[in-house]
Amino acid sequence: MDRFPAGQQPEKRKRSDLDSPELLQELREKGSQSNPDNAPSRRNFLLGGAAALAAMTSGMKLGDSDFHKKANELKSVLEKLYGVRIVMGPPHGEEHIRGDMTTLETYANTLTLISQEFSKYPLGMIRKVTGKRTLEVRVVDKLTSTATTASEVSAQEKEHPVTVSGLMEELGNGNEGTRITLNTSLQAANLRRTIHHELNHRFSREWEDWSRHTRKWARHNSTSVLNPYRPVPLGTKADAPTNDRRFLTLFASSSAEEDQAVCAEWMMTPRLHADFLERIENEQDGNIKAILAAKYDEIIDTYKRWSSGKIDAAFWHRIAEQGKKEKLLAAPRGATRC
Ligand SMILES: [Zn+2]
Repeated sequence: MDRFPAGQQPEKRKRSDLDSPELLQELREKGSQSNPDNAPSRRNFLLGGAAALAAMTSGMKLGDSDFHKKANELKSVLEKLYGVRIVMGPPHGEEHIRGDMTTLETYANTLTLISQEFSKYPLGMIRKVTGKRTLEVRVVDKLTSTATTASEVSAQEKEHPVTVSGLMEELGNGNEGTRITLNTSLQAANLRRTIHHELNHRFSREWEDWSRHTRKWARHNSTSVLNPYRPVPLGTKADAPTNDRRFLTLFASSSAEEDQAVCAEWMMTPRLHADFLERIENEQDGNIKAILAAKYDEIIDTYKRWSSGKIDAAFWHRIAEQGKKEKLLAAPRGATRC
């Protein structure tokens, strides 16, 4: 149940949004506009539909006459298309997650952003995990948590709640579901990459043999039997750098699970994907270059396997090319070579 502030309860819809012929028509039109190159297969229509709906709702303002209607439609499409249930605010009675309710505007904008990022994956890949166990996505402002993994912090620090970008949890106590919690205080670009990071954890828990997975990622970093991963300081920020160039960030050096999730997060984010390729290209130490390249290739193999071949070379090529364009646009103007 969504906890909208009193008096702002969105209107109830009597039937499924996807049963609505008008909405279907609207999605079809917007979807074909946003994907002119795609064949009008059912899958493309649905993916185009979610992305198109997200485009329709981006920048929604509370005062807009159809604000509640559009936010509700988007929530409903996310639920029906992906099987993802969006919930607002921190969970009741769970001490390890704290935070505030988001404003309605932030909530609506976050729905838009989630739709856009989810629509990058083949529909079947998401449905394969959400069909098995429910996936709840909670949007929480000023998210803090004590639910940190052992590899992330030293034991004595574990009780302190720290600001986190996101969390992926398996819900216990007879609840078979899973939950991703997102911190809406993050800037949009950081929220987007966090979605991919947490989804990687979800996929990985579902489809990887845990001990084999850990050994495989450890071996990417070192041929020695010693564990290459070390705890990192409490509250380490997503982008905190490390001098150990085998890892993209300091946080990635904390465990095999995080190493993989950070690599996936970078590869799913155009600009960071281009950064990852640059790191490999510019690395002077042959050993480190090979380690970074092996991790890059590992994500390609893994996502191909997880998506039954749908996430292919062309998929990654498009992201890499977009990343290069974004970097060019962001480069300081007027810089000339002399
Ligand atoms: Zn993580």
